[in-house]
Amino acid sequence: MFTLPELPWAKDALAPIISSETIDYHYGKHHQTYVNNLNNLISGTEFENATLEEIILNAKGGIFNNAAQVWNHTFYWESMMPNAPQKPGGELLAKIEAQYGSFEEFKKQFAQAATTLFGSGWAWLVINKVGKLEIIQTGNAENPMTQGLKPILTCDVWEHAYYVDYRNKRVDYIEKFFSIVDWGKVEERC
Ligand code: MN
Repeated sequence: MFTLPELPWAKDALAPIISSETIDYHYGKHHQTYVNNLNNLISGTEFENATLEEIILNAKGGIFNNAAQVWNHTFYWESMMPNAPQKPGGELLAKIEAQYGSFEEFKKQFAQAATTLFGSGWAWLVINKVGKLEIIQTGNAENPMTQGLKPILTCDVWEHAYYVDYRNKRVDYIEKFFSIVDWGKVEERC
């Protein structure tokens, strides 16, 4: 049985960028529902004793969707922190600057990917198969691991992630998102 992982910070810690009301719904209702659905769906199947990663890499349909959404949301919560450093340090910053020219240009390209993803999905910073950084979009529950990519940062752009705080203004949410990224965690994942 999967359980809802604890948040790495208090539910009002990211306010006003992400309010406790958003956390109540997004974590308390949406994320919890993916966990519940997954447990119900895998009961009595070959995935009953599998890890979340094994399910994501091998399942299809509803089992895949709910497993990936459980993983994606945990990864998203762990990508953020209150009083965050406003940019990465050390090797990650050097890598970003080498590939994108500047951290500002990187942010612009990541924001562009997050903004232009049509419908529901996720924007990701990943490490690709040749060890380079890559910004990608995935629709719905899709997860980069199924393409052999290693995720290091994600931004949830489903409407439920921002509608309480930003209404229809996804662009504003994405701009604020950068100020709560836990760059230390992103670097750990490299
Ligand atoms: Mn979400």
